[in-house]
Amino acid sequence: MSPSKTSESSTIKIVVAGGNYAGLNAMQHMYSSLLAKDPKDAAKPSPKVEITLIDRRDGFIHCIGLTRGLTEPEFGADLWVPYSTVPWLQHPSIRVVSGTVAEMAADKVLLSNGDSYSFDYLLIALGLSRFAPIGLRSSTKAEYIDEIAESHAKIHAAQSVAIIGGGAVGLELAADIKSDFPEKHVTLIHSRALPVPGPFKDEFRHMVVDILKEIGVDVVLGERVVAQTPESGDMSYDSAKPSPPPPEHVSTMSTNAELTLASGRTIRADLAIRCLGALDKRGVLRLPLAADIFGADGIAVKDTMQIDSEHYPNIYACGDICSRALVKLAGVGMYGAYIAARNIARSVLAAGSKLEDGDRYPAQLMLLLGKDHFALQLGDEIWEKERTREHVHKDMGLMRCVEVLSLHKEPEYVSPD
Ligand SMILES: Cc1cc2nc3c(=O)[nH]c(=O)nc-3n(C[C@H](O)[C@H](O)[C@H](O)COP(=O)(O)OP(=O)(O)OC[C@H]3O[C@@H](n4cnc5c(N)ncnc54)[C@H](O)[C@@H]3O)c2cc1C
Repeated sequence: MSPSKTSESSTIKIVVAGGNYAGLNAMQHMYSSLLAKDPKDAAKPSPKVEITLIDRRDGFIHCIGLTRGLTEPEFGADLWVPYSTVPWLQHPSIRVVSGTVAEMAADKVLLSNGDSYSFDYLLIALGLSRFAPIGLRSSTKAEYIDEIAESHAKIHAAQSVAIIGGGAVGLELAADIKSDFPEKHVTLIHSRALPVPGPFKDEFRHMVVDILKEIGVDVVLGERVVAQTPESGDMSYDSAKPSPPPPEHVSTMSTNAELTLASGRTIRADLAIRCLGALDKRGVLRLPLAADIFGADGIAVKDTMQIDSEHYPNIYACGDICSRALVKLAGVGMYGAYIAARNIARSVLAAGSKLEDGDRYPAQLMLLLGKDHFALQLGDEIWEKERTREHVHKDMGLMRCVEVLSLHKEPEYVSPD
């Protein structure tokens, strides 16, 4: 029997697909408005809702700390917080399902094991896919600890490491490796004249290059890698092939690598790691009346965080999977999830309620380049190092996220009005 058929028909069914920064924050705010007891009216019954969280992993992972998680696996282990330890996720009206979403249609979500979950409201928060080692194949914390130990062993064994790609992930990984292993020769290769793609100032980009050089990273700019032997798995990855493996199962690491640059220069490295961006998840969306809703930057959404189609007003999307922000950030995803959750709660409590619009925030980027170097551009402003330091957490924001997402405490009742 399909899992959704066990629930009573009068129960409003909400499905959240993806339970990390965006999905978990949405769960938290729906809990606050629909399931937490109002202290001023504790006798008031909760609405009849069933909230199902579906994720292929059994816990939250603080991705922001992952580059250091690979260089310091003990720190890395703390980045995974199992859902089973989050008190309010154990509420009887919440169901946490471990499974891979294969398809999302107008009224149900289908998992790869054949189970389906029908919904009255769907919130899509599946993020982006990344190749290993930043993309994680693990579905449990135990597997994850083994996975990062395996990647760590390769980094530890290499005397020279080449990072290909000067986006945020490549920069942070190069800086973490050099900071934790000063004796290694670390090279960062980026195809353009300056790193940090996106809406940022050249002054900010120069600042980042200066920091990397100060740490001791060898920075090679304006050079495209045109050949690599041996190739890493991602180089022949073709998402258009029938049933390609999930990117997280495909490694971008290559040992004893020889890299040929467009200029003809060759670079040898004991370990090369390609950090060339993320893949979207357009393949899982099946909405025939909104076939073009998935654009180059993700699913188009309104300011209410409903997907931008009059045909599917009960489907919302937030986080990296939606086109909301120029720069994909956890904070942007969590804010969108907050707006989406409040709007879903309003609609559940009173059909036809006026929905709230979320604000848009200027693009920003904070780069954590090893333990004592950081760079922040917020909108048009580049922050001074000492001012930025006040916003940098030693644990790369792990406990701040645990706090904000209420992973260790019961969220309070909040009316969505
Ligand atoms: C190394 C690194 C450093 C970063 N640093 C920063 C930073 O300093 N500041 C910042 O704001 N942002 C940073 N980011 C970006 C930030 O991590 C993302 O913006 C954020 O993760 C987006 O949250 P999300 O919930 O939308 O997606 P994710 O965090 O990617 O969560 C998606 C969830 O969906 C689940 N999922 C995906 N596909 C399926 C499926 N088919 N079936 C079931 N479950 C599925 C995943 O398991 C996951 O739990 C960094 C990212 C990386 C990789």
